[in-house]
Amino acid sequence: MGGEPTQQHHWNGVLDSALDAVGNTPLIRLSKIAKEEGLACTLLGKCEFMSAGGSVKDRIAKRMVLDAEKRGVLIPGQSVVIEPTSGNTGIGLALACAIKGYQCIITLPAKMSLEKEVMLKALGAVIVRTPTEAAWDSPESHIGVARSLEKSIPHGIILDQYANPQNPLAHYHTTYPEIMHALATSDLPSKHISLLVAGAGTGGTITGIARGIRDGEAGTGKRATVVAVDPVGSILGGGEPGNYEVEGIGYDFFPEVLDPRPPLIDEWVKTEDKESFAATKRLIRTEGLFVGGSCGSALSGALRYLHSPAGQHIASDPTANVVIILPDGVRNYMSKPWFLDQMEDEAMVELKQQIKGVIGRE
Ligand code: PMP
Repeated sequence: MGGEPTQQHHWNGVLDSALDAVGNTPLIRLSKIAKEEGLACTLLGKCEFMSAGGSVKDRIAKRMVLDAEKRGVLIPGQSVVIEPTSGNTGIGLALACAIKGYQCIITLPAKMSLEKEVMLKALGAVIVRTPTEAAWDSPESHIGVARSLEKSIPHGIILDQYANPQNPLAHYHTTYPEIMHALATSDLPSKHISLLVAGAGTGGTITGIARGIRDGEAGTGKRATVVAVDPVGSILGGGEPGNYEVEGIGYDFFPEVLDPRPPLIDEWVKTEDKESFAATKRLIRTEGLFVGGSCGSALSGALRYLHSPAGQHIASDPTANVVIILPDGVRNYMSKPWFLDQMEDEAMVELKQQIKGVIGRE
């Protein structure tokens, strides 16, 4: 998979377009949470909400568009980009299409947030909502509708994040090298990844990063543990299909780009909505990181693994680096009850009472 020039790790001078501000996200210590949890290892969050379009999926959108242009299957002024997505790939694609002048249609399950829809519209994409409960291979699902649109809309093309090799390659060539560069230039005692934790939707993120890790550690005698996080209600990490609120992770089928077993992925951890949203609030409140719901799933899954017997040797090792992928930001979810309803805590209620005492109102 080599043969690509080393990518740039920081921004020098001015950028040509917002596409150049995709990726290059910071790796930030979650030191307060690590301390609260009694962990000796270093807990690090890869902050994908700081990418131009606000998520980890900007990377694959940019790469799939550039690759399709290179192969001549996307024709400027003619092609209509169609994609079934939980929203973030759509935002990344719509961003690329806005800059490059393609029309864009996004098919989006009903449960996905209004904020994602509004952003897509702002970027000029046309949205088609589909029933959340539709099975992936039914004609009504976001995938089924996108396929029938591709057949009927002149010059319509699905770049297909579920099967496009550029999806995991984007992470192999950008996300993974960025993590290694951050570690290499840090003052941490070890420059290696001991544990990688990421949620899986298409599985492109975890598959691409894990391939980078395995290639990087070949011949070194080191072996990182890779843990995938999957919501209860998804079949990827086992269990029956069902409903859950968290957006962007879990499916009722195995996408082609996901390589779910060792040597790439060592273990799957299942998470519930409640723990995910509590962990999201915790990341915002204690670390000041504006993360979305699947980031809470990733943190919750990471902590569960670290506190399990299998994770003990990493949790107690002060030289171990634990990297958690934080895929998007809470600005995607501001109108969701899980976010709105849990922001006020006792300390705030007490302070509000004091304010009322001074000015006669809250
Ligand atoms: N979290 C969010 C919010 C997402 O939108 C996605 C993409 N579906 C993921 C996690 C998972 O990323 P991937 O598709 O690479 O597995």
